[in-house]
Amino acid sequence: MGYDYDDQNVFARILRGEIPNETVLETEHTLAFRDIRAQAPVHVLVIPKGRYVSYDHFGAEASDAEIVDFTRTLARLCAELDLAPADGGAGYRLIVNAGAAGLQEVPHMHVHIVGGRSLGRMLPAS
Ligand code: AMP
Repeated sequence: MGYDYDDQNVFARILRGEIPNETVLETEHTLAFRDIRAQAPVHVLVIPKGRYVSYDHFGAEASDAEIVDFTRTLARLCAELDLAPADGGAGYRLIVNAGAAGLQEVPHMHVHIVGGRSLGRMLPAS
């Protein structure tokens, strides 16, 4: 068990520049880019540049600088994408999938920011 990072995952390859991406914002520790299969008018993925498998891995082992950078970048994105309610935006949803039950497809920690339409209920009924 434990955190086993796969260096060949698609986001690791994006971070190494081996696969193109549509960057929205980049900081010292964080990269945000458009999801290739957008499920809403706004669908942005936010990833730390470090080798973290999941949100729990990131929260447990990332440095304070990485965590602060990630959180501030996410807030900045919500504002710059015109989603933040405080600025008159219609709102958004953050989604983080982990492991088998969460149907995590890419084993590099990422947060989905989705918005631009009404997003319906949080989870299907069953
Ligand atoms: P998850 O199920 O939370 O692991 O979601 C992974 C997301 O990564 C999916 O929404 C995919 O559409 C997205 N994705 C996979 N490959 C790429 C890529 N090369 N560029 C942008 N998004 C991608």
